[in-house]
Amino acid sequence: MKTTIIGFPRIGEHRELKVATESYFRGDSTQEALVNKGKQLRRMHWNLLKDAGISLIPSNDFSFYDTTLDTAVLLNIIPKRFLDLQLSPLDTYFALARGYQGEAGDVTALPMKKWFNTNYHYLTPEFEESTTVKVVGTKIFDEYSEAKELGIETKPVILGPFTLLKLAAFKGTTEEEQLFAVLAAYKEIIATLDSLGAQWLQLDEPSLVKDLSDEDRALFLKIYHELTAGPRTVKLLLQTYFGDVRDIYADLLAVNVEGLGLDLVEGKKTLELIETFGFPQNKTLFAGVVNGKNIWRNDYRQTLEIIEKLPQEQLVLSTSCSLLHVPFSVEQEAFPKETAQHFAFAKEKLSELTELAAIVNQTADALINEPLIRNQQLFQATRAVENQQLASKIAGLSEADFQRHPAFEERSSVQKYTLELPELPTTTIGSFPQTKEVKATRAKFKKAAISEEAYQKYLESKIADCIAFQEEIGLDVLVHGEFERNDMVEYFGENLEGFLFSKNAWVQSYGTRCVKPPIIWGDVSRKRPITVAWSTFAQQLTTKPVKGMLTGPVTILNWSFPREDISIKESTLQIALAIQEEVLDLEAHGIKIIQIDEAALREKLPLRKSDWYQEYLDWAIPAFRLVHSKVAVETQIHTHMCYSEFADILSAIDQMDADVISFEASRSNLSLLDDLNAHHFKTAVGPGVYDIHSPRVPSVTELVTTIKTLLEKLPVEKLWINPDCGLKTRGEKETFASLENLTQAAAQVREALVYESVRE
Ligand code: GLN
Ligand code: ZN
Repeated sequence: MKTTIIGFPRIGEHRELKVATESYFRGDSTQEALVNKGKQLRRMHWNLLKDAGISLIPSNDFSFYDTTLDTAVLLNIIPKRFLDLQLSPLDTYFALARGYQGEAGDVTALPMKKWFNTNYHYLTPEFEESTTVKVVGTKIFDEYSEAKELGIETKPVILGPFTLLKLAAFKGTTEEEQLFAVLAAYKEIIATLDSLGAQWLQLDEPSLVKDLSDEDRALFLKIYHELTAGPRTVKLLLQTYFGDVRDIYADLLAVNVEGLGLDLVEGKKTLELIETFGFPQNKTLFAGVVNGKNIWRNDYRQTLEIIEKLPQEQLVLSTSCSLLHVPFSVEQEAFPKETAQHFAFAKEKLSELTELAAIVNQTADALINEPLIRNQQLFQATRAVENQQLASKIAGLSEADFQRHPAFEERSSVQKYTLELPELPTTTIGSFPQTKEVKATRAKFKKAAISEEAYQKYLESKIADCIAFQEEIGLDVLVHGEFERNDMVEYFGENLEGFLFSKNAWVQSYGTRCVKPPIIWGDVSRKRPITVAWSTFAQQLTTKPVKGMLTGPVTILNWSFPREDISIKESTLQIALAIQEEVLDLEAHGIKIIQIDEAALREKLPLRKSDWYQEYLDWAIPAFRLVHSKVAVETQIHTHMCYSEFADILSAIDQMDADVISFEASRSNLSLLDDLNAHHFKTAVGPGVYDIHSPRVPSVTELVTTIKTLLEKLPVEKLWINPDCGLKTRGEKETFASLENLTQAAAQVREALVYESVRE
């Protein structure tokens, strides 16, 4: 039985590609050095796969930034404004990815979007009227030949034409207008690979796992009918991932490709589809049985049961998706052996594939099979001790635990009275600039270069300055500034029982940016108060309310590697109970307003609309409610989301039952505000009045106009005035100036309102 993977992480075992690329960006190294680094990494990774015994090794899964962008550039889908810069091909590529500002001109980057249901981001290909699609690049061919010269036969990988069109933006042109040229270009790629002697070409078509309309299906079939017509020797692998292909499976069986890649991990219905509709004898089934998204070892017994149900003679064992989404290797970690043996990062997943293949190849002797026995022992032993108390607490939760009393309207009138806030209350989202000094001081403390006491004193002085500034400019609801936090999830993970942190488990998020998600190892509970000391310290410095600042359970879960031995719902409820304790502790210590951030709530919304509620929102929203359901009527609960694309789940957002929600509003604000009205959205709202992602300082006049526009859509008693996200990535100077203008603008609008009401 053969093995393959869909793609391998390209950032390097020690993020070498990040280092090299950033050095090039800074102008510290040459293009040649960067190109060579890429070559060196590719060689290392190919050899690693070869040594691991993987039969079909991918190529062109490497990228200097993003493989979707690679495909666009290969096909000349480059907007004119970038071509006009007349940069070298590599610099044009980076300009598309990051924007360009310099002698040649000033252009913003292509929009970046989340890659399906992952935390990876791709660049949106942009077709415009002047676009002439044709094969202008050579990367896919060069990398195939490069490997061949090293004696390694590879399977080139490229984003498929259907998904390319589905992800692309069209400006002054349409999908139909571009289709012919796109098809011709893909045909040319196939022909060229044919002449180079390639045996397989993998066409990635993850868009097939989404809800498909009749038009989508027709488009797909048209594309593949054209693409596969005519003679060729290279075999085509139609690769899907991130779910099952229930809307098109039956049709796929008739498509003239030699291989079909299906996801048996996230694709809940994949097995059922194969069993119901069968699998044609003339195709190879690339079975995604090893999870490409999570870091746990594969349970061989379970996987073998799945494999048994598949057409054995036609199988290639594969991963559920590209290994891009997991870190490089466990070898780099300092976990004790008993812990480390439970993890399989990218490198370890390779041996899982070859071990599974070996086991299948000699089923008769399964019992003398050492890897299988070892694997079974691993899964039979108890990994993390169960917290019985917590389990019974969760089992005992009832409706009432998820419902705050009294209802919103009653709370809101009580809070109006007790909090004594003015109309159009002003506030911020929580963090203040994390200056170099703040980061350096935290680093010193972590290295034990300064004492805990000194660190504490430093943070207290930062908080005191922050409170003084907010009082001075007249903000109404203050924050302590979050100077003690490295990251909104890591900080909570570090202070909760049940999380593990890696040293080097980086995963690419976009371009050179990587994240290091915590691992949820066991049952989660609160070890000790987390934020109480900082919030109470800040509160005793002022008579104005200071908002307590927490990260919500859904976001903590979504930005971690989740457990596989219990459900995600169960894990989230555990986190929710831990955060609930923190909420009640803050309340008991006199904190009257508490914000619970759910920055990543939207991110894990299932790819299919039909799964949104049952699979996700039906437990995610209650988990949020559980966190705040027990607070007193006077305590005001805020939440924050970094985006405003929630028009389609507005009722779910309202059912979070927060008192106030702040969100990003710069782009789609006006239509969203209409939607809020149409849905009788009850929660008070703070649509961000300026964009914190840019250093630009908004003027008072501009902010007054923005607030007035908002007031045309929203009743004054529902509106809060705030920036659109936390200020931690901003510089101090622009932040102070912007906030001062914000409070002045709010004051001016308030005055105008009083004047108008007197006139009436
Ligand atoms: N409270 C957090 C902050 O202000 C929220 C961050 C976020 O929304 N991503 O930084
Ligand atoms: Zn935000």
